[in-house]
Amino acid sequence: MYNLKLKSLVLLIVTTSFIGCGDTESQSVNTIEHNLLSKDISNLTTTELQNLGFNCVSENTVSFTKSYLSGINLNNPNSLIINEVCKAVFFYELDSNSPINETLLLKVGLSNIYKPNGSVDAWAIDKVKEMIIGKGTDIRDVKYELEQFMLKRERVWPKQISITFDDGIVVDSILEHLSIFDKYGARFTYFVSHFEQYDRRKFHILQGYGVEIGHHGALHVNAVDYISKYGIQKWEQNELLGQLNSMKVEGFYPEAFAYPYGAFSSESDEVLSKHFKFIRKFDSRPNIKYRIVSGAHSIVTSYSIDDHRIDLKQIKSMIDELQGGDTLFISSHAIGEWFNEFHISKEHLEAILNYGTSKGIVFCGFSDCIKQSEKLR
Ligand SMILES: [Zn+2]
Repeated sequence: MYNLKLKSLVLLIVTTSFIGCGDTESQSVNTIEHNLLSKDISNLTTTELQNLGFNCVSENTVSFTKSYLSGINLNNPNSLIINEVCKAVFFYELDSNSPINETLLLKVGLSNIYKPNGSVDAWAIDKVKEMIIGKGTDIRDVKYELEQFMLKRERVWPKQISITFDDGIVVDSILEHLSIFDKYGARFTYFVSHFEQYDRRKFHILQGYGVEIGHHGALHVNAVDYISKYGIQKWEQNELLGQLNSMKVEGFYPEAFAYPYGAFSSESDEVLSKHFKFIRKFDSRPNIKYRIVSGAHSIVTSYSIDDHRIDLKQIKSMIDELQGGDTLFISSHAIGEWFNEFHISKEHLEAILNYGTSKGIVFCGFSDCIKQSEKLR
């Protein structure tokens, strides 16, 4: 008795929750079974389908409807068949301008859009948007692709963390702590400023050790302030190209640039993209909120893990949330004892490396993390 009631309730919800699927209650229970199972579906007209309860079908969608019907189980109750077909027809009629969101995807039965923690996977929704290229998208194809995508997120693609350190002045503190990274087989990136003022043999040791050497400005100026005072060409010449050439002469070919102070404009982004593949911004605001980056982006924001900003509890919870194809970008300056707050303690650094390694996270150089994400298919 309970089961029967429940079944009726479910059917009622299903049939009334989808707008445009016809008044199925007025149809005889067996109409569809009689007509669809006994007839050649390919000969049905739009009117005949509408008379069977498929009020969602039009001349534009009749061929799709028949192809869809020929691939599903017609022994199901009428209401379920009509509901399923009309969801597919509704989806078929969406175009690339349609607002694709969680509500709409649930409405058409694409429910495989959640992370294990129950939050919506925004990347999955973006994937669906990419798959809708004008009218005529078959929901079965999207469902298959979405399942494959989520499977790779869960089981195949790597979960990554990029740790970067900035400023020429911290080079000795980085050299002194290489063994911490060695212990965990972790890679990282060092963004050098004031390149010409330091002993380049130190940078060579780091590069030989597998550390990516990036560019962090010749004089570490605030790009926005400098450009407003002296113009973009002077910034490009003095802050980027001078050091870039010196680095190349010394055998360093930086693919990435990190903005000093995280100060940027669209104008400076544009100039940087002529000389570098990847650009790093920086967020060191108080009460820091770390954000995960999904997939490959050539410009990303990295979050401060300097000791006056670090929130280890939050970092661990971010690590727990990482899915395949995600990267957490975090940055500091010196390692260990330092004269100001722009450093991370050995203990904090090791805590991140230790927890990440225990969860199977890959610690990659900044550019390598992005390049790896570019390869995900
Ligand atoms: Zn800096």
